[in-house]
Amino acid sequence: MSQNTSRDLHAHSQATSLENSSLEEREHGVDQPQEALYRLYLAAIIESSDDAIIGKTLDGIVTSWNPAAERLYGYTAQEIVGKPIATIVPNELRDDLAVIMQQLKEGKKIDHHETIRMRKDGTHVNVSVTISPIKNASEKIIGASTIARDITAQKKAEEREQFLSEVSKVLASTLDYQTTLSHIARLVVPHLADWFTVDLIDAEGQFNLVEIAHKDPTKVQWGKELRKRYPIDPHAPSGVPQVVRTGKAELHPVVTDEMLAKTARTEEELALYHQVGLTSVIIVPLIARGNAFGALTFIYTESGKNYNAKDLAFTEEMGHRIGIALDNAILYRQVQQSRDELHAILQNVADGITVQDAQGTLIYANDIAAQLSGFSSAEAMLAAAIDNRIFSEVLSKVEMKDELGNSLSHDQLPGRRALEGQKNVQAFIQYNDTVTGQTRWSLVKAEPIFDEYGQVHFAVNVITDITEERAFEQRKDEFIRMASHELKTPITALKGFTSLLQRRLIKQGDDETSLSFLARMDAQLDRLTKLISDLLDVSKMQVGKLDYREEDFDLDALVQETIETLQGMTQTHHLQFAGQTNVQVFGDRDRIGQVLINLLTNAIKYSPQADKVIVCVSTDQGQAILSVQDFGIGIVGFHQEHIFERFYQVAEPAEKTYPGLGIGLYISKEIVRRHDGKVWVESQKGQGATFYVSLPLRSEQK
Ligand code: ADP
Repeated sequence: MSQNTSRDLHAHSQATSLENSSLEEREHGVDQPQEALYRLYLAAIIESSDDAIIGKTLDGIVTSWNPAAERLYGYTAQEIVGKPIATIVPNELRDDLAVIMQQLKEGKKIDHHETIRMRKDGTHVNVSVTISPIKNASEKIIGASTIARDITAQKKAEEREQFLSEVSKVLASTLDYQTTLSHIARLVVPHLADWFTVDLIDAEGQFNLVEIAHKDPTKVQWGKELRKRYPIDPHAPSGVPQVVRTGKAELHPVVTDEMLAKTARTEEELALYHQVGLTSVIIVPLIARGNAFGALTFIYTESGKNYNAKDLAFTEEMGHRIGIALDNAILYRQVQQSRDELHAILQNVADGITVQDAQGTLIYANDIAAQLSGFSSAEAMLAAAIDNRIFSEVLSKVEMKDELGNSLSHDQLPGRRALEGQKNVQAFIQYNDTVTGQTRWSLVKAEPIFDEYGQVHFAVNVITDITEERAFEQRKDEFIRMASHELKTPITALKGFTSLLQRRLIKQGDDETSLSFLARMDAQLDRLTKLISDLLDVSKMQVGKLDYREEDFDLDALVQETIETLQGMTQTHHLQFAGQTNVQVFGDRDRIGQVLINLLTNAIKYSPQADKVIVCVSTDQGQAILSVQDFGIGIVGFHQEHIFERFYQVAEPAEKTYPGLGIGLYISKEIVRRHDGKVWVESQKGQGATFYVSLPLRSEQK
């Protein structure tokens, strides 16, 4: 034992008595008797220090070695004092040692130098060393003292922190989860595992291996095949399925033969497990939004290491981060997929489709929409939309008009109105094709899309090119106009001859039967005339050419007269008249009469089992209200919205027996609309129907 060491040990035995001396005393000057005490005190500190404290000569020979040094490096003082300090320096760091010794000779102190030393058993240990030169009384450097601290744990924590930040970086780098996972696998293997796998559960509850890593690529291939042959049993009581079921990680510090025997389904599988040579396993869940959707498995095999609780905590943290990132990536992929699908669908529909954001800026357009708006492609249209000026310039070349030929500004387009919150907006737009100059027609429908706060988020526009349909409609209307006109002439002649014949027969005092036949013929001719004039009205309405003669007329008298005329034509129904308005209405008396005739004939026609119809007039809030109530078949809600459309008839098996063209209500609605009034229906299937007409009154009558 060296002199120093024996003195240190001696000092240690004295240390307890020193603890009682006052601090003041100890800090006081170092005179002779106290100097001895001071040395003893110092020795005691060295002895009990948690840090390794080592003395060495300038040649690198160890001169003192405290118990902490023994604990750290495994050598006793006896074994190492007098030996070179190089004993504890790994071969590859010998040069480093030479540099340190040189610095000491120059009197320099080395502070908190982080390096690696070798223990007696050959293992490495991370240490932080502070080395100070020791001078004698004449200031000559005679050696050095080293204070060394084991920083393995700190290093490991730092490394893990670093590792996690690497993982986070990888996770943030891309939303392509396959790439992300293989990056992560490269970080994990071989530092944290010999084998690393990632399994995700699918909608059917099956586990899919989405990543498998090992440092040897041939083994990866082998591992994949193995998993194909032995897929994970979703009902297995432990392992990945259990971790995903419970959301709780599994740590198996030591994998025993017994455990393998329990897991293996066949002898062959068990033999394979033995071949893999599992020593330790951790399985952690991947959790996102409170739901475990997969697991990470870390396996030690050939390296023979074992996982501990710290590793578990660390890998759980990894699982947590990867879980969230993976979930985001999967959601992103799903969103992208549905967006691509939607895009493919929208590109292939025959209609133009555009989407505007809340500010009205175009954010989506398909090619058809671009074409209809004068752009070469959807890309060109969207690119132009970014620069509002270009966009308006292109659009301004397209002069737009509404159905009646009035010029339309872009602010009047349905999209704008949808952005203001109006639902179901639609407009017929005519414009001149910028290339051919031909007049084209579009039906533009816009719908607002609301966010969760009820604010308009987007407006979706569907643009249908209806030029062909329009042209066809126009030809059809023209044909109807001509046909009706042509039909009217012979009917007028027929009517004339019928009344001539009637008069003759009466004069001749002919029998009743012939006269009644003639009367029925005349009634049929009236029906025919009405049908033709209705058709003619419809075609005139289409082009806005229906004439109105406007005057003040007595509403009550008109209703009374019309009821009387129609009462004469029905034997089945009693037409009752209720109420009184005493008002004059300004408008076309004949046309309003036509509306009432339409409503009354419908009421009679659609209530074959009933025997009355009630007509009622009243005034309410500046309006004259006219209602026609029947007790017939009624109309279900869905059809009520449509019966006022042109050619619309309720096509239900029971209704098939009713003759008609589906234009009476359309004409009535148009006439009432021209009078700034409204027409609507209240009805329930099988409960009869009440049709209402409201007409505004002149202000002095209100
Ligand atoms: P139509 O010539 O077919 O009667 P309308 O335009 O007058 O044409 O009416 C449209 C459709 O509305 C009818 O076909 C019928 O199905 C329904 N309808 C009209 N009035 C009534 C009513 N009073 N009761 C039940 N259904 C009616």
